[in-house]
Amino acid sequence: MAQIHQLSNILSDQISAGEVIERPASVVKELVENSIDAGSSRIDVEITEAGLKQIKITDNGSGIAPDQVQLAFKRFATSKINNQADLFKIHSLGFRGEALPSIAAISDITMKTSDGEHEGSEIHIHGGKLVQQGPAEIRRGTTVEVNELFFNTPNRLKYLKSTATELSKITDIVNRLALSHPEVALSLQHNGRELLRTSGRNNMQQVIAGIYGNPSMKKMISVENENSKFKLTGYTSLPELTRASRKYISVIINGRFVKDYALNHSIIDGYGSKLMVGRYPVSVISVEMDPSLIDVNVHPTKQEVRLLDSRELSDFISKSIYASLSQRNLIPDALDNQ
Ligand code: ADP
Ligand code: MG
Repeated sequence: MAQIHQLSNILSDQISAGEVIERPASVVKELVENSIDAGSSRIDVEITEAGLKQIKITDNGSGIAPDQVQLAFKRFATSKINNQADLFKIHSLGFRGEALPSIAAISDITMKTSDGEHEGSEIHIHGGKLVQQGPAEIRRGTTVEVNELFFNTPNRLKYLKSTATELSKITDIVNRLALSHPEVALSLQHNGRELLRTSGRNNMQQVIAGIYGNPSMKKMISVENENSKFKLTGYTSLPELTRASRKYISVIINGRFVKDYALNHSIIDGYGSKLMVGRYPVSVISVEMDPSLIDVNVHPTKQEVRLLDSRELSDFISKSIYASLSQRNLIPDALDNQ
Protein backbone atom coordinates (compact mmCIF):
# COMPACT_ATOMS: atom_id res chain seq x y z
CA MET A 1 0.00 0.00 0.00
CA ALA A 2 1.11 3.58 -0.60
CA GLN A 3 2.67 5.38 2.35
CA ILE A 4 0.68 8.00 4.19
CA HIS A 5 2.38 11.36 4.06
CA GLN A 6 1.45 14.94 4.78
CA LEU A 7 0.90 17.07 1.68
CA SER A 8 3.27 19.93 0.98
CA ASN A 9 2.09 23.44 1.84
CA ILE A 10 1.86 24.36 -1.82
CA LEU A 11 -0.33 21.36 -2.58
CA SER A 12 -2.60 21.86 0.43
CA ASP A 13 -2.95 25.56 -0.42
CA GLN A 14 -3.94 24.57 -3.95
CA ILE A 15 -6.55 22.22 -2.56
CA SER A 16 -8.07 24.85 -0.30
CA ALA A 17 -7.89 27.34 -3.17
CA GLY A 18 -10.36 25.06 -4.92
CA GLU A 19 -12.92 25.85 -2.21
CA VAL A 20 -12.32 29.56 -1.78
CA ILE A 21 -11.39 30.62 -5.30
CA GLU A 22 -13.85 29.33 -7.82
CA ARG A 23 -13.47 32.04 -10.43
CA PRO A 24 -11.97 35.53 -10.93
CA ALA A 25 -14.90 37.07 -9.04
CA SER A 26 -13.87 35.09 -5.93
CA VAL A 27 -10.44 36.74 -6.00
CA VAL A 28 -12.06 40.15 -6.28
CA LYS A 29 -14.39 39.36 -3.37
CA GLU A 30 -11.61 38.15 -1.07
CA LEU A 31 -9.27 41.04 -1.84
CA VAL A 32 -11.90 43.77 -1.53
CA GLU A 33 -13.07 42.20 1.74
CA ASN A 34 -9.49 42.35 3.01
CA SER A 35 -9.35 46.02 2.04
CA ILE A 36 -12.62 46.72 3.86
CA ASP A 37 -11.39 44.84 6.93
CA ALA A 38 -8.24 46.99 6.82
CA GLY A 39 -10.44 50.04 7.42
CA SER A 40 -9.94 51.52 3.95
CA SER A 41 -12.05 54.52 3.01
CA ARG A 42 -11.14 54.10 -0.65
CA ILE A 43 -10.77 50.94 -2.74
CA ASP A 44 -10.07 50.84 -6.47
CA VAL A 45 -10.59 47.63 -8.44
CA GLU A 46 -9.03 47.38 -11.89
CA ILE A 47 -9.73 44.31 -13.98
CA THR A 48 -8.28 43.23 -17.31
CA GLU A 49 -9.97 40.58 -19.47
CA ALA A 50 -12.52 39.61 -16.80
CA GLY A 51 -9.68 39.05 -14.35
CA LEU A 52 -7.96 36.34 -16.34
CA LYS A 53 -5.22 38.71 -17.33
CA GLN A 54 -5.07 40.86 -14.24
CA ILE A 55 -6.91 41.83 -11.08
CA LYS A 56 -5.52 44.85 -9.30
CA ILE A 57 -6.87 46.20 -6.02
CA THR A 58 -5.57 49.37 -4.38
CA ASP A 59 -6.64 50.50 -0.92
CA ASN A 60 -5.73 53.14 1.63
CA GLY A 61 -6.21 50.88 4.65
CA SER A 62 -3.99 49.89 7.56
CA GLY A 63 -1.36 48.12 5.44
CA ILE A 64 0.90 45.37 6.79
CA ALA A 65 4.15 45.84 8.72
CA PRO A 66 7.24 44.53 6.84
CA ASP A 67 7.90 41.69 9.28
CA GLN A 68 4.32 40.38 8.84
CA VAL A 69 4.03 40.40 5.09
CA GLN A 70 5.25 36.88 4.51
CA LEU A 71 3.09 35.57 7.32
CA ALA A 72 -0.05 37.02 5.67
CA PHE A 73 0.47 34.45 2.89
CA LYS A 74 0.61 31.46 5.24
CA ARG A 75 -2.47 29.33 5.64
CA PHE A 76 -4.57 29.99 8.77
CA ALA A 77 -2.58 33.15 9.42
CA THR A 78 -4.92 36.01 10.31
CA SER A 79 -4.92 39.21 12.35
CA LYS A 80 -8.70 39.09 12.78
CA ILE A 81 -9.34 36.51 15.46
CA ASN A 82 -7.25 35.30 18.37
CA ASN A 83 -9.18 32.67 20.24
CA GLN A 84 -12.19 30.42 20.16
CA ALA A 85 -14.44 33.03 21.73
CA ASP A 86 -13.66 35.43 18.86
CA LEU A 87 -14.86 32.81 16.40
CA PHE A 88 -18.36 33.15 17.80
CA LYS A 89 -18.53 36.90 17.45
CA ILE A 90 -17.01 37.77 14.10
CA HIS A 91 -16.90 41.48 13.33
CA SER A 92 -14.72 41.29 10.23
CA LEU A 93 -15.49 39.92 6.78
CA GLY A 94 -12.49 37.57 6.85
CA PHE A 95 -11.16 35.42 9.68
CA ARG A 96 -10.11 32.08 8.19
CA GLY A 97 -6.68 33.17 6.99
CA GLU A 98 -7.10 31.31 3.70
CA ALA A 99 -7.57 33.85 0.95
CA LEU A 100 -4.04 35.11 0.37
CA PRO A 101 -2.32 31.69 0.44
CA SER A 102 -5.08 30.26 -1.77
CA ILE A 103 -4.79 33.00 -4.38
CA ALA A 104 -0.99 32.87 -4.24
CA ALA A 105 -1.03 29.09 -4.86
CA ILE A 106 -2.83 29.44 -8.20
CA SER A 107 -1.55 32.70 -9.65
CA ASP A 108 1.29 35.15 -9.89
CA ILE A 109 0.69 37.67 -7.13
CA THR A 110 2.50 40.82 -6.08
CA MET A 111 1.58 42.79 -2.97
CA LYS A 112 2.93 46.20 -2.07
CA THR A 113 1.99 47.42 1.35
CA SER A 114 2.81 50.00 3.97
CA ASP A 115 1.43 50.59 7.43
CA GLY A 116 2.48 54.23 7.24
CA GLU A 117 4.97 53.80 10.09
CA HIS A 118 7.61 51.48 8.69
CA GLU A 119 9.20 51.36 5.28
CA GLY A 120 6.85 49.86 2.70
CA SER A 121 7.41 46.35 1.39
CA GLU A 122 6.80 44.25 -1.66
CA ILE A 123 6.33 40.52 -2.00
CA HIS A 124 6.07 38.50 -5.20
CA ILE A 125 4.82 34.89 -5.15
CA HIS A 126 4.36 32.65 -8.17
CA GLY A 127 2.34 29.43 -7.86
CA GLY A 128 2.89 29.42 -4.10
CA LYS A 129 6.66 29.92 -4.38
CA LEU A 130 8.28 33.06 -3.05
CA VAL A 131 10.01 34.84 -5.92
CA GLN A 132 11.13 38.01 -4.25
CA GLN A 133 10.60 40.14 -1.16
CA GLY A 134 12.01 43.55 -0.33
CA PRO A 135 11.38 47.21 0.43
CA ALA A 136 9.06 49.30 -1.74
CA GLU A 137 8.00 52.90 -2.14
CA ILE A 138 4.30 53.10 -1.30
CA ARG A 139 2.00 55.32 0.69
CA ARG A 140 0.00 53.86 3.59
CA GLY A 141 -2.23 51.16 2.18
CA THR A 142 -1.98 48.06 0.06
CA THR A 143 -1.91 47.20 -3.62
CA VAL A 144 -2.39 43.63 -4.77
CA GLU A 145 -1.86 42.54 -8.35
CA VAL A 146 -2.98 39.07 -9.39
CA ASN A 147 -1.79 37.85 -12.80
CA GLU A 148 -2.08 34.52 -14.58
CA LEU A 149 -4.93 33.29 -12.42
CA PHE A 150 -5.35 29.46 -12.59
CA PHE A 151 -2.17 29.11 -14.68
CA ASN A 152 -1.31 25.89 -12.83
CA THR A 153 -4.86 24.55 -12.40
CA PRO A 154 -5.95 23.94 -16.02
CA ASN A 155 -9.13 22.17 -14.91
CA ARG A 156 -10.38 25.29 -13.21
CA LEU A 157 -9.59 27.33 -16.26
CA LYS A 158 -11.56 24.92 -18.42
CA TYR A 159 -14.71 25.38 -16.35
CA LEU A 160 -14.76 29.15 -16.55
CA LYS A 161 -17.52 30.69 -18.61
CA SER A 162 -17.25 33.37 -21.28
CA THR A 163 -15.51 36.67 -20.54
CA ALA A 164 -18.91 38.36 -20.43
CA THR A 165 -20.22 35.93 -17.81
CA GLU A 166 -17.09 36.11 -15.65
CA LEU A 167 -17.22 39.90 -15.84
CA SER A 168 -20.88 39.96 -14.81
CA LYS A 169 -20.00 37.82 -11.76
CA ILE A 170 -17.32 40.36 -10.88
CA THR A 171 -19.68 43.33 -11.27
CA ASP A 172 -22.28 41.54 -9.22
CA ILE A 173 -19.83 40.96 -6.35
CA VAL A 174 -18.47 44.51 -6.44
CA ASN A 175 -22.01 45.95 -6.55
CA ARG A 176 -23.00 43.96 -3.48
CA LEU A 177 -19.84 45.00 -1.65
CA ALA A 178 -20.62 48.63 -2.52
CA LEU A 179 -24.20 48.24 -1.26
CA SER A 180 -22.93 46.60 1.92
CA HIS A 181 -20.37 49.36 2.54
CA PRO A 182 -21.65 52.73 1.33
CA GLU A 183 -19.09 54.34 3.66
CA VAL A 184 -16.28 53.16 1.38
CA ALA A 185 -15.52 54.92 -1.92
CA LEU A 186 -15.35 51.95 -4.25
CA SER A 187 -14.53 51.99 -7.94
CA LEU A 188 -14.50 49.28 -10.59
CA GLN A 189 -12.79 49.48 -13.96
CA HIS A 190 -12.71 46.84 -16.68
CA ASN A 191 -10.18 47.15 -19.52
CA GLY A 192 -9.83 50.82 -18.57
CA ARG A 193 -13.56 51.52 -18.65
CA GLU A 194 -15.26 52.66 -15.45
CA LEU A 195 -18.21 50.47 -14.44
CA LEU A 196 -18.90 51.76 -10.94
CA ARG A 197 -17.81 54.57 -8.67
CA THR A 198 -19.33 55.30 -5.28
CA SER A 199 -18.72 58.42 -3.25
CA GLY A 200 -17.97 56.83 0.11
CA ARG A 201 -20.32 59.35 1.77
CA ASN A 202 -22.26 56.59 3.47
CA ASN A 203 -25.34 57.29 1.40
CA MET A 204 -27.02 54.03 0.47
CA GLN A 205 -29.56 55.79 -1.71
CA GLN A 206 -26.74 57.19 -3.84
CA VAL A 207 -25.10 53.77 -4.16
CA ILE A 208 -28.38 52.17 -5.20
CA ALA A 209 -28.92 54.92 -7.79
CA GLY A 210 -25.40 54.32 -9.12
CA ILE A 211 -26.03 50.60 -9.51
CA TYR A 212 -29.69 50.29 -10.47
CA GLY A 213 -30.12 53.76 -12.00
CA ASN A 214 -31.86 56.91 -10.83
CA PRO A 215 -35.27 56.06 -12.31
CA SER A 216 -35.34 52.86 -10.24
CA MET A 217 -34.17 54.64 -7.10
CA LYS A 218 -37.04 57.10 -7.47
CA LYS A 219 -39.43 54.16 -7.24
CA MET A 220 -37.94 52.88 -4.00
CA ILE A 221 -38.91 53.80 -0.47
CA SER A 222 -36.89 53.72 2.69
CA VAL A 223 -37.39 50.92 5.20
CA GLU A 224 -36.29 51.47 8.78
CA ASN A 225 -37.14 49.52 11.86
CA GLU A 226 -35.55 48.52 15.12
CA ASN A 227 -36.30 46.23 18.02
CA SER A 228 -34.19 44.90 20.88
CA LYS A 229 -32.38 42.45 18.58
CA PHE A 230 -32.27 43.87 15.09
CA LYS A 231 -31.72 47.25 13.50
CA LEU A 232 -32.87 47.37 9.92
CA THR A 233 -32.22 50.03 7.29
CA GLY A 234 -32.62 49.92 3.55
CA TYR A 235 -34.69 50.62 0.50
CA THR A 236 -37.29 48.60 -1.30
CA SER A 237 -39.19 49.17 -4.53
CA LEU A 238 -42.80 50.25 -4.83
CA PRO A 239 -44.90 47.37 -6.15
CA GLU A 240 -44.87 49.06 -9.56
CA LEU A 241 -41.14 48.45 -9.92
CA THR A 242 -40.43 44.74 -10.18
CA ARG A 243 -37.99 42.46 -11.93
CA ALA A 244 -38.28 38.97 -13.35
CA SER A 245 -35.43 37.73 -11.15
CA ARG A 246 -34.66 37.61 -7.47
CA LYS A 247 -31.15 38.83 -8.01
CA TYR A 248 -32.13 42.44 -7.34
CA ILE A 249 -32.77 41.51 -3.73
CA SER A 250 -29.83 41.95 -1.36
CA VAL A 251 -29.78 41.08 2.31
CA ILE A 252 -26.79 42.36 4.24
CA ILE A 253 -26.08 41.31 7.80
CA ASN A 254 -23.46 43.24 9.74
CA GLY A 255 -21.89 44.48 6.52
CA ARG A 256 -21.80 41.04 4.90
CA PHE A 257 -23.91 40.26 1.85
CA VAL A 258 -25.54 36.91 2.58
CA LYS A 259 -27.18 34.37 0.33
CA ASP A 260 -30.17 33.09 2.20
CA TYR A 261 -33.33 31.92 0.52
CA ALA A 262 -35.56 32.39 3.57
CA LEU A 263 -34.39 35.93 4.24
CA ASN A 264 -34.80 36.92 0.59
CA HIS A 265 -38.23 35.41 0.69
CA SER A 266 -39.17 37.37 3.79
CA ILE A 267 -38.78 40.54 1.71
CA ILE A 268 -41.12 39.18 -0.93
CA ASP A 269 -43.56 38.16 1.81
CA GLY A 270 -43.65 41.76 3.02
CA TYR A 271 -45.46 42.68 -0.20
CA GLY A 272 -48.42 40.43 0.62
CA SER A 273 -50.31 39.91 -2.61
CA LYS A 274 -48.98 43.08 -4.23
CA LEU A 275 -46.51 41.33 -6.53
CA MET A 276 -47.49 39.42 -9.61
CA VAL A 277 -46.42 35.82 -9.81
CA GLY A 278 -42.85 35.59 -11.07
CA ARG A 279 -42.11 39.26 -10.32
CA TYR A 280 -39.72 40.35 -7.58
CA PRO A 281 -38.88 43.66 -5.94
CA VAL A 282 -35.62 45.57 -6.07
CA SER A 283 -34.55 45.65 -2.47
CA VAL A 284 -31.48 46.33 -0.38
CA ILE A 285 -31.96 45.51 3.28
CA SER A 286 -29.17 45.90 5.78
CA VAL A 287 -29.48 44.40 9.26
CA GLU A 288 -27.27 45.06 12.26
CA MET A 289 -27.40 42.46 15.01
CA ASP A 290 -25.35 40.82 17.73
CA PRO A 291 -22.62 38.87 15.86
CA SER A 292 -22.77 36.10 18.45
CA LEU A 293 -26.21 35.15 17.06
CA ILE A 294 -24.78 34.36 13.64
CA ASP A 295 -22.47 31.57 12.57
CA VAL A 296 -20.54 32.74 9.53
CA ASN A 297 -18.17 29.79 9.62
CA VAL A 298 -20.45 27.58 7.53
CA HIS A 299 -18.74 27.72 4.17
CA PRO A 300 -15.29 28.90 3.01
CA THR A 301 -16.77 31.76 0.98
CA LYS A 302 -18.79 32.91 4.03
CA GLN A 303 -21.79 33.93 1.96
CA GLU A 304 -23.95 31.40 3.70
CA VAL A 305 -24.62 31.99 7.36
CA ARG A 306 -26.52 30.22 10.08
CA LEU A 307 -28.74 32.34 12.27
CA LEU A 308 -29.86 31.47 15.74
CA ASP A 309 -33.05 33.50 15.30
CA SER A 310 -33.64 32.98 11.64
CA ARG A 311 -37.46 32.84 11.91
CA GLU A 312 -37.53 35.90 14.09
CA LEU A 313 -35.40 37.87 11.66
CA SER A 314 -37.51 36.74 8.68
CA ASP A 315 -40.67 37.92 10.45
CA PHE A 316 -39.05 41.19 11.40
CA ILE A 317 -37.99 41.86 7.81
CA SER A 318 -41.43 40.99 6.39
CA LYS A 319 -43.17 43.21 8.92
CA SER A 320 -40.80 46.10 8.31
CA ILE A 321 -41.29 45.95 4.55
CA TYR A 322 -45.03 45.62 4.98
CA ALA A 323 -45.16 48.58 7.39
CA SER A 324 -43.17 50.83 5.07
CA LEU A 325 -45.36 49.98 2.10
CA SER A 326 -48.62 50.36 4.01
CA GLN A 327 -47.56 53.73 5.40
CA ARG A 328 -47.67 54.86 1.81
CA ASN A 329 -51.13 53.38 1.40
CA LEU A 330 -49.72 50.92 -1.04
CA ILE A 331 -51.31 47.96 0.60
CA PRO A 332 -55.10 47.95 0.81
CA ASP A 333 -56.81 48.13 4.21
CA ALA A 334 -58.08 44.62 3.88
CA LEU A 335 -54.52 43.42 4.18
CA ASP A 336 -53.78 45.79 7.04
CA ASN A 337 -56.26 43.92 9.16
CA GLN A 338 -54.67 40.56 8.63
P1 ADP B 1 -8.22 36.68 6.60
O1 ADP B 1 -8.83 37.82 5.83
O2 ADP B 1 -9.18 35.57 6.81
O3 ADP B 1 -7.56 37.11 7.87
P2 ADP B 1 -6.36 36.52 4.37
O4 ADP B 1 -5.52 35.41 3.85
O5 ADP B 1 -7.36 37.11 3.46
O6 ADP B 1 -7.05 36.02 5.70
O7 ADP B 1 -5.39 37.69 4.86
C1 ADP B 1 -4.40 37.39 5.85
C2 ADP B 1 -4.06 38.62 6.66
O8 ADP B 1 -3.34 39.56 5.84
C3 ADP B 1 -5.23 39.39 7.21
O9 ADP B 1 -5.67 38.86 8.44
C4 ADP B 1 -4.66 40.80 7.35
O10 ADP B 1 -3.98 40.94 8.57
C5 ADP B 1 -3.64 40.89 6.23
N1 ADP B 1 -4.17 41.60 5.04
C6 ADP B 1 -4.62 41.03 3.91
N2 ADP B 1 -5.01 41.98 3.02
C7 ADP B 1 -4.80 43.18 3.61
C8 ADP B 1 -5.00 44.55 3.22
N3 ADP B 1 -5.52 44.87 2.04
N4 ADP B 1 -4.65 45.52 4.11
C9 ADP B 1 -4.14 45.20 5.32
N5 ADP B 1 -3.92 43.94 5.74
C10 ADP B 1 -4.25 42.93 4.91
MG1 MG C 1 -9.40 37.73 3.85
